[in-house]
Amino acid sequence: MIDVLSYLPAKRKNTSSGWISFNAPCCVHNGESSDRRQRGGIKSTDQGWSYHCFNCGFTASFILGRNLSFKARKLLQWLNVPQEEIERINLESLKHKNIQGILDDRQRTANMVQGIEFEDRELPEEFALIDVDMPVHWQYLRDRCVPEDYPIGMIHGGPDDKFTRRQGVIIPFTYDGRIVGHTRRFFDDHNPRYIHDMQSGYVFGTDLQVPNWQHAIVVEGVFDALSISALAVLHAEINDPQVRLIRSLGREITVVPDQDEAGMKLVDRAVELGWAVSMPDWPADVKDVNDAVKRWGRLATLIHIFQAREISKIKIELRKKQLVKRLRS
Ligand SMILES: [Zn+2]
Repeated sequence: MIDVLSYLPAKRKNTSSGWISFNAPCCVHNGESSDRRQRGGIKSTDQGWSYHCFNCGFTASFILGRNLSFKARKLLQWLNVPQEEIERINLESLKHKNIQGILDDRQRTANMVQGIEFEDRELPEEFALIDVDMPVHWQYLRDRCVPEDYPIGMIHGGPDDKFTRRQGVIIPFTYDGRIVGHTRRFFDDHNPRYIHDMQSGYVFGTDLQVPNWQHAIVVEGVFDALSISALAVLHAEINDPQVRLIRSLGREITVVPDQDEAGMKLVDRAVELGWAVSMPDWPADVKDVNDAVKRWGRLATLIHIFQAREISKIKIELRKKQLVKRLRS
């Protein structure tokens, strides 16, 4: 096995969510001042590792069976790994080339051909990774049933403006393991509750999908998606580029709308696209998937969703009428 950990600086910190943070070696090469706050983070994955720098925004990842990417090579160089060692790692990796790697490469090529590409974006300056020693933020994520290993930040420092003065969390948007935007959710419930840095056609949660899953659930909000590993369209509509991206995943799609008037627009769109819709019989105070997970847990929520899954247009319309009636009563 290729062990990247042995190349990391001795001064490092393990977070409970599996990240190892250390002074990022990338920033000085990217026009930023050198990192002294251990804002570089690396995490082992099933078949490799992924790296995020929360100072200059540099990211890189490695998957066993693939060639070392340009950015992964750069990172290893900046960690002072000798060139011949980098070549050895690459050769070692290619010995593990497997069918999944080949299929993923094809998917990547197909995405490029279809124009599904997002540019790398930097996280805001006030982003700081949340850890157990920040009880208010950590508890907020626990209450929202967010998986502990998703890298979520808090609003900390940064320019003094009307947004950094509000407490909240920052959720990176990723695509193929790269950071391509973010959203911030403020704790106070004043408007706006969310501010997105979102590229057109982006769908949150493609990186939460496991390769051999046959189904994908489409929801509205980022917390709904995080709590059941679903895809989030981030508003109550699904635009055409988002449809293309969702279709490119090759899954059976089930749309689960929020139980409000706006959610009903999502239902109409799903019917138009020929996708299944699920509107489980949840009590009125359970407004979305995240509320359901908070009340019954992840597994029960998924069971409710699949039991109420409906593909027949007529039955979807009937269920929608029932819901609308309740919403207006
Ligand atoms: Zn950096």
